[in-house]
Amino acid sequence: MKYVFGPVSSKRLGQSLGVDLLPPKSCTWNCVYCQLGKTRKFVTERQEFFAREEILEEIREALERHKGLDWITFVGSGETMLYKGIGWLIAEVKKLTDIPVAVITNGSLLYLEEVREELLQADAVLPSLNAGSEALHNQIVRPAAGLTFRQHLEGLVAFRHEYQGRLWIEVMLLGGINDSDEALRDLAIVLKEINPDMVHLVLPTRPAPEQEVHLPSDERIERAIAILSEVTTVVNPLKGNMDLRNAPDMLEAITAIVSRHPVQQRELQKAIADCFPGENDKTAEVMKEMLATGRFKLVEHNGEPYWVMQS
Ligand code: SF4
Repeated sequence: MKYVFGPVSSKRLGQSLGVDLLPPKSCTWNCVYCQLGKTRKFVTERQEFFAREEILEEIREALERHKGLDWITFVGSGETMLYKGIGWLIAEVKKLTDIPVAVITNGSLLYLEEVREELLQADAVLPSLNAGSEALHNQIVRPAAGLTFRQHLEGLVAFRHEYQGRLWIEVMLLGGINDSDEALRDLAIVLKEINPDMVHLVLPTRPAPEQEVHLPSDERIERAIAILSEVTTVVNPLKGNMDLRNAPDMLEAITAIVSRHPVQQRELQKAIADCFPGENDKTAEVMKEMLATGRFKLVEHNGEPYWVMQS
């Protein structure tokens, strides 16, 4: 499948079928923590990168194959809202199924009325906000020229006023960057203004393009939860894991996921083992096959081995 991947399971969205609408990597930001690597060339112009009917057809096929899904999630190799026509896709998916639709976005285009409008039918929208000051925002997300912090905030506030669904803001907590009391208090002030339904605290557990990206200490995570909880509900999600049990072609399914983000070796081992209960050799066999294709490699991050695609 070209656009649909997973299901991937996570505490936030349970069993979620992913839909990627973008050519890699198309983004308005160049975050220090991006698991897709550096943004080589910014994309800020919204386009229908691939024919919407083709994407819908894949979703239809995937819905027939995968049962027990909790969410259909639009998330991509970059900024999801760069896809012009996502509103049409959300509306069409809603005609096919009752499974709720989530959109993961950096939120940088929410200042545009047409973008906010396209999101109104989604059941949950998960935009990013990592800082409460312009300087820190720019240091972390390194936006394309013309995209300002003020605009980002105004977009989030305007969207909150117009949107009836669940607004879950994703905060990436970076050790030594935005985990000080001062940074967290600034963030709490703007979160209060936005008034999201919830904040999902996420951690840089995957390989990042910049050396300065580190996991925060447990003490800082607890502090972040304490400070942000003063203004909204904060969820510290457990890491997601993969479910390959319904994949018709295991290597293809693994490729679809690893090409979108690095996958921890432990997570992949567990996902493969779940497909072959009692067959202990199977995990090593599949990983050997992966290496034999020449398309994957293992890298280390924070002392943990991860699978990534060969560049
Ligand atoms: S917004 Fe997302 S895809 Fe874009 S650079 Fe940041 S982490 Fe990467």
